[in-house]
Amino acid sequence: MHEKCGVVGISLEERDAAHPIYYALYALQHRGQESAGMVTHDGFQQHQHVEMGLVGDAFRPEDIDALNGSNGIGHVRYPTAGGVNASCAQPFSVSFKSGSLGLSHNGNLVNADEVREELAELGHAFTSSGDTEVIAHDLARNLLEEDLVRAVKSTMQRIHGSYSLTIMHDETVLGVRDPQGNRPLCLGKLEDGYVLASESAAIDTLDGEIVRDVKPGELIVLKPDGSGYDTYQLVEREQTAHCFFEHVYFARPDSVIDDELVYEVRRELGRRLWADSGIETDVVMPVPDSGRAFASGYAEAAGEDGAKTEFAEGLMKNRYVGRTFIMPTQDERERAVRLKLNPIKSTIEGKTVTVIDDSVVRGTTSTQLVELLRDAGAEEVHVRVGSPPIISPCYMGIDMASREELIASDRSVEDIEAEIGADSVSYLSIDAIVDALGKSESDLCLGCVTGKYPYDIDGEERDRDVTRPVIGSERASADD
Ligand code: 5GP
Ligand code: MG
Repeated sequence: MHEKCGVVGISLEERDAAHPIYYALYALQHRGQESAGMVTHDGFQQHQHVEMGLVGDAFRPEDIDALNGSNGIGHVRYPTAGGVNASCAQPFSVSFKSGSLGLSHNGNLVNADEVREELAELGHAFTSSGDTEVIAHDLARNLLEEDLVRAVKSTMQRIHGSYSLTIMHDETVLGVRDPQGNRPLCLGKLEDGYVLASESAAIDTLDGEIVRDVKPGELIVLKPDGSGYDTYQLVEREQTAHCFFEHVYFARPDSVIDDELVYEVRRELGRRLWADSGIETDVVMPVPDSGRAFASGYAEAAGEDGAKTEFAEGLMKNRYVGRTFIMPTQDERERAVRLKLNPIKSTIEGKTVTVIDDSVVRGTTSTQLVELLRDAGAEEVHVRVGSPPIISPCYMGIDMASREELIASDRSVEDIEAEIGADSVSYLSIDAIVDALGKSESDLCLGCVTGKYPYDIDGEERDRDVTRPVIGSERASADD
């Protein structure tokens, strides 16, 4: 199960948390369109509402009214290649002897099967195939014997892989980020409480202040009265494995992730594309919307070098068409591209064109686009890509297709040029990505572009010695 999702958790002084969670989920909608859900606690009992579909469709006003309590968590879930899967919709919730538990998960465990089998032997019954339920059961079990912080720590020792979590234990909201910080998670302050969210754009939406990113291996416990939070550095790791693809494609450009504003990183990557493989054409245009920041950086750098390449919007996007990946068959995916993008002839006809996208996965989008641009009268079509060739699958939560489907997995750049019918194709180098992110290569997960992973994955190579996390227990508090 490759789950690329959005999570949120909110604790407020008095106000019900449901409305702010709803708005935060709206701000995180790009992280998941298959289902949306919320769990709140009113001090006596838990309330849950989970529904398939977009945030705006999943909650009716009366659903939100019924979600009582000033503490709660929420989730938006990304569609996986296999299509809809109602049993995996979140937050996951369980009641057990020592209380109630709600869990929202973004990421993917690499040892879920092993932990599930072990728990099943101990008598735990599972209702879904997802790894989130595994975390919930392990934590519920630990909570029978240990206090909250120790229980989370024990679970973190047991599970491996990628997880940014918001958890509700009775009315207490927690945030946990895996020891390698693979997926983002940040903390914000509201006028009357605190918020944990996958991306800072959700905090902005609530008119909150960004406090900081949750640290890899850190547990943050929000005080249920909204007055502050405690933090525990439960696991220390020497190296992180931040997903570079969050910065390239997945996150909103207006989010700050691990101290970097995504928009500026993308513009910088666009500048590097020009520096590495720029070609003077009449126009440069983004594939909307994901290519826009790259094309703007590219055009700016081209201008500084005296090139006459003009930035143009040559492709219009139908904003009501979902992300093309949701389409299960290749035929549908091709039709979806055509439905989604339409050329503006005047900016294309008789011109040499460079078109910029953030990434090429199967090659569906670029193949269709090259044809579209030629049909619209482009004299030349050059494709520039804001990431390195994707040669390997993602096991950490980005639903990228299997190795056989990846156009770059067994093709050279020249072969790809021929395959998609472009006059030239150029990708960014791994070095450029590492440089623009201002992190060291060994602190990033680059599995999909190197084929080597920072996690133990069956049949795949590792990019580092994977050591067991060092368990720490530093505690700190922040009160108003
Ligand atoms: P392709 O058409 O080559 O298979 O995919 C490339 C396009 O899909 C690019 O426009 C890129 O913005 C987008 N893309 C890249 N990664 C993902 C992903 O994980 N999910 C979805 N839905 N789109 C993606
Ligand atoms: Mg795109």
